This record gives sequence, C-alpha cells and structure tokens, in this order.
Amino acid sequence: MMTRLNSKNGDKLSVLGFGCMRFPAKGGSIDESRATAMVRDAIEKGVNYFDTAYFYHGGKSESFLGTALEGGYREKVKIATKLPPFMVNKLDNAKKILATQLSKLKTDYIDYYLLHMLTDKPMFDRMVSLGVLEWLESLKEAGTIRNIGFSFHGSKSDFEKIVKAYPWDFCQIQYNYMDENNQAAKSGLQLAASLGIPVMVMEPLRGGKLADNLPSEVVKAFQSYDTGRSPAEWALRWVWNHPEVNVLLSGMSTEEQLADNIRIAGTAEADSLSKEELDVFEKVKTVMRERTKIPCTACGYCMPCPAGVDIPGCFSCYNDKYLLNDKTIRLRYMQTLGALSVKPANASQCKECGKCETHCPQNIAIRSQLKVVSKELEGIFYKPVMGIARKLMKIR
Ligand code: SF4
Ligand code: SF4
Repeated sequence: MMTRLNSKNGDKLSVLGFGCMRFPAKGGSIDESRATAMVRDAIEKGVNYFDTAYFYHGGKSESFLGTALEGGYREKVKIATKLPPFMVNKLDNAKKILATQLSKLKTDYIDYYLLHMLTDKPMFDRMVSLGVLEWLESLKEAGTIRNIGFSFHGSKSDFEKIVKAYPWDFCQIQYNYMDENNQAAKSGLQLAASLGIPVMVMEPLRGGKLADNLPSEVVKAFQSYDTGRSPAEWALRWVWNHPEVNVLLSGMSTEEQLADNIRIAGTAEADSLSKEELDVFEKVKTVMRERTKIPCTACGYCMPCPAGVDIPGCFSCYNDKYLLNDKTIRLRYMQTLGALSVKPANASQCKECGKCETHCPQNIAIRSQLKVVSKELEGIFYKPVMGIARKLMKIR
C-alpha cells in the first residue's frame, strides 16, 4: 500500500481510503461478518483511513465501524466522520450529534471531522454564526478532534469561496475523469493544494458508473491501449495520477473490489501515467462528448448567472442521465445544484434574461435547454417538496 504525506500534520495516509457507505449488505442491513472481515483485511494490508458519516447506512455505519475496529484496530487507523450542517440550528444540536458519534464509534477522538456536504458559502457562514467553528477549534485544542475539514458538492466558484474562507486542515471533493471541470474541479483541487490544504477525493468512480455499463465505444477506447485494465482501474489511476490528491476514497462492497483496489493502490504513484495513457483518456472524453446531449464543455464563460444558476452543473447532470444511464441522477442533481442550500443553483432558477447566451462559445440555447433540464430532472414536485424541506430545516 502506498502512502502520501499529509503535509499539514505529518500523517502518512494510505492512498486508498475505505469509504464506509457501501459495505456488503444482507437483508437490507450491513452484512456484519463479511464487512468486519473486509475492514480488518484492509487494515492488515495497509489501509489506514476510514471515512464514515452520521447518515451512512441509515445511521448504522458509524456504530458498525466502531465495533469492527475493536480489538486493537482503532489505534491503527484514522477515522473521518461528518457533522450534518442541515441538522444544526443551534450549537447544542452539533454537540449532541458529536457525542452520539463518539459513542457509536467507541472512541474518544475523531481524527478527521468534516462539515458534511457544504454546497455554498452561506451554508459555511451559518455554521460560523452558530459558533460551530469556534467550538470545533476548542475541541481540536482538547484533542477530541484532530483535524477540521469539509466535504463539498456544488459549483467551482462556491468551492473557491469556502476553501479560502477558513484555514482548513483538509477538504473532501468529488473528482474523477468525468468531473475534471465540474464541482470543485481540477482548478479547485489545485487551489486547495496551493493553500496547503490536503485533499481527499470521493466518488472516483462516480458511484460505480465509471466501472460498469459504460458505452461500448468507451470500453473499446480503454482496450485500445493493451493493458487488460478494467475501466475502474483506469479511473482510479487517473485520480491517483494527481499529486495534489492525498487519499482516494472507495466505497467497497465486495472482497474482490477490495483486493483489486489494494492491488492497484500498490503502484498508485503520482504523475505516473504516460503520455500514451493520458491520450487514452482524451479518446474516452471525445467519445463521451460525441454522445452528450448538450455540447457544454464546462468552460464557464456564461457564468456567473445573476439568478445563481450553475449552468454547466445543470447541463452536466442532464448529460450524465443519458451518457451513464445514471438512475440516481435526480439525487445527484439535488446535491450538485444545492437544493437545500441558501442559494440553490438549479435550472428552474433561470429568469431568462439571456445574458449567458451571448458568452457561450458553443452557441447553446441555454434558456431553452435549462427548461428541458428542469422538466426532466426536477419535474412538477421539485419546487413544492424542496420548499417544504427548506422550511422544516429553516433554510432561508
Ligand atoms: S438566462 Fe437564465 S441562466 Fe442565463 S444568465 Fe439569465 S437567468 Fe442566468
Ligand atoms: S459558456 Fe456554454 S459551453 Fe461554456 S459552460 Fe456555459 S453553457 Fe457550457
């Protein structure tokens, strides 16, 4: 297992982190004996970073992990878990959540603690105004929390604002060869690295979509470079090729996936892909582009939109619906476009001013395409349901 140094605190972190949201399941619950064996096998083979959250596996992931790490395993690993900001309306909520997490994880400290799924700067500001950051700092001084970070789903510009707004110990972003220009994007990865902030990467396979059911032309493009590598291995190697990435998180559900990922992580050097290998990704992206419905290149020239619409983000989700046959796309759309953030960026926010269209080098009829996105990814219930949810969560 290769490791990469967390330059902020000196931790030597395994390049492969165990994402604890997709343990093997049986009868709708975690298959505890298989999952425990996988967790311990991973540790024996050098995995030392486990990423869980309050909500994973319907709230059972943390307690399962706490039990799986009993018997001397806890001390060998770093635990990352997350505080859900939308459940925090006063500091006391956060205190109770952390107390529950420590008890579930059967530990008295959390190595890496994240504000879960920040989507825009006002969401971070709300945490500051409630005193959450100040409280986390006091916990860090006391040793209860070792590193303060955030995970992010949103637009490039929001990522930039959040990453610059606080001296973070680390951050966690969605990154893979299909998201090079989406969400935090490569520019966000490089910005974080330039600020000395370690980056953990989630969704290296886009929830498995870059491993299975890819269009046959894409599989052929990968096979044109004769290595016998699976599309999943190509995708993981692409992420690890970035020297700015500290840990790649993979939610592994089978023993085979674990063994395969550990094998690949054994040679996951940064800057190791050759020009020929990088050219394969260009071929793959060309095939992907040819199959995309809206020819948006995510250049961002149309941004910012005065109504707050994340135009490339909307088009990216829409394209994925068809390109990757992604059945979870509505959920991804909600996350990416900040359905529960202070300033949602979804397609139906468009006020049809037309400003964006004059800047688009692809001559996309942005207004009418956003209507299509809204119809297919929001439907008629999106606005009322989100309205109720926002009210209940006191999001203004
Ligand atoms: S037309 Fe819509 S998406 Fe384009 S800038 Fe105006 S409000 Fe934003
Ligand atoms: S300017 Fe056009 S191609 Fe560029 S991000 Fe906006 S919609 Fe996409």
